[in-house]
Amino acid sequence: MLKVDGTDLARHIYTVHEIIPVSPELSAHGGDMMIRYPIWIPGDHSPTGPVTQLAGLSVHADNRNIPWIRDTVDVSTFHIPITAGTKMILVDFQTLTPVSSDVGRVVMTPDMLNVQWNAVCLYPAGYFTRDITVSPTLVLPHGWQYGSALRPRDGGNTGDSITFQNVSFDRLVDSPVFAGRYFRQFDLTPPNGPPVSLDVVADSPNLLAAAPEQINAHRNLVLQANAVFGSHHYEHYDFLLALTEELGRIGLEHHQSSENSGPRGYFTKWKDTFPARDLLPHEFTHSWNGKFRRPEDLWAADFNTPHRGSLLWIYEGQTQYWGYVLAARSNLMTQPQVLDALALVAATYDGRAGRLWRPLVDTTNDPVIARRTPLSWRSWQRSEDYYSEGELLWLEADTLIRELSHGHHSLDDVARQFFGISNGSMVTHTYRRENVIAALNTVQPYDWAGFLHDRVDVVTPMRHWPDWSVGGTVWFMARSQPPISPRKRKC
Ligand SMILES: [Zn+2]
Repeated sequence: MLKVDGTDLARHIYTVHEIIPVSPELSAHGGDMMIRYPIWIPGDHSPTGPVTQLAGLSVHADNRNIPWIRDTVDVSTFHIPITAGTKMILVDFQTLTPVSSDVGRVVMTPDMLNVQWNAVCLYPAGYFTRDITVSPTLVLPHGWQYGSALRPRDGGNTGDSITFQNVSFDRLVDSPVFAGRYFRQFDLTPPNGPPVSLDVVADSPNLLAAAPEQINAHRNLVLQANAVFGSHHYEHYDFLLALTEELGRIGLEHHQSSENSGPRGYFTKWKDTFPARDLLPHEFTHSWNGKFRRPEDLWAADFNTPHRGSLLWIYEGQTQYWGYVLAARSNLMTQPQVLDALALVAATYDGRAGRLWRPLVDTTNDPVIARRTPLSWRSWQRSEDYYSEGELLWLEADTLIRELSHGHHSLDDVARQFFGISNGSMVTHTYRRENVIAALNTVQPYDWAGFLHDRVDVVTPMRHWPDWSVGGTVWFMARSQPPISPRKRKC
């Protein structure tokens, strides 16, 4: 049982109460029980769990206080001495979230909050976290509404307290909550598709004034993504969107939801805020690329086992590419806006001096090396270049497939090969580089292993990217639903 109180807005503090069962063996004989604070947070690709915010920890069992001991090597693990006969422990603590942005990402404001469950729970060590079942309850400020991929249990909404359906620990961490004083939910469900909604919180109520054509563009996004990937891997999907200058910025993927922030004028200054509108397509793509299909070395049995991001140029690079393509196909951005964005990226990497010494694959270590701290000499140092240089790699691959197949095939076909399997299943399918190469070769035979090696693994002399200007707008055309044969496509 996990209860999180999110009402202390003035002090930015979450108060947590948990009841954690003791394993039968430990209960019978006594011994050392370890409970852990999640550190390796999926999507962050680095050990970012905010253990510095954990405070006020106390552990009780059978009305006795149990002194805990923090592990001196793994400082996110706590040792709890269990005496024989103890069946459960009661754990209380607070998460002291940043009171201002110079301390860290602000997750509580006077008008909204962002609950990331990994920050407000401890879990017992020694299990696959998918096998730990949690009964979560969240207490919100009076009268607030919320969006989440979690669903309340029958009768679970009592006043300002929501008790959600039982959920695995994995799914819980993957199902954050956006809640707010000013909230609107828009239905994006496609015909005959699973439920999809856009759950918006904002700094003020006037910011929620979305025009029908704006919501239609978001509906198109759902249609277009399903057309590209030829499948879905969620029971329902919630786009969580905060229009704010108060809450810390975010774009974080989950299997059945995503956490997104946008400018206050996302709807009300639509013409001016287009640069932010590839975010939802990017995070939605991750439901397929990252959550359903995941690089083998990014899969872990719990939240304290290190990840390795050697294939982030696929996980993030191809997602970055689809984010822009889907933004154009859904009319969230215009084709010229997307082409300009791609041109800016290409120009940036034409002059990226660090490509002379550091292969793209090495930048996949950057989330661990640099943790997104400011860097000097960015062009020479490089950064998480697997996002945008990876995006160019997939644009080049798409272009090549179209050229070699004389317009009959494209990266769409590869996406359907690779992601469009086991429709409706949420069981993660891991992959290695050779699986991606095989999918490429199935669609268009070529030396894809060499193509990727040259662009990912080795330092190559500075070279200019191919000329995409000829016919470059073609594949941003919206696809019909259901997908049509590439041979019959108008473009
Ligand atoms: Zn991403």
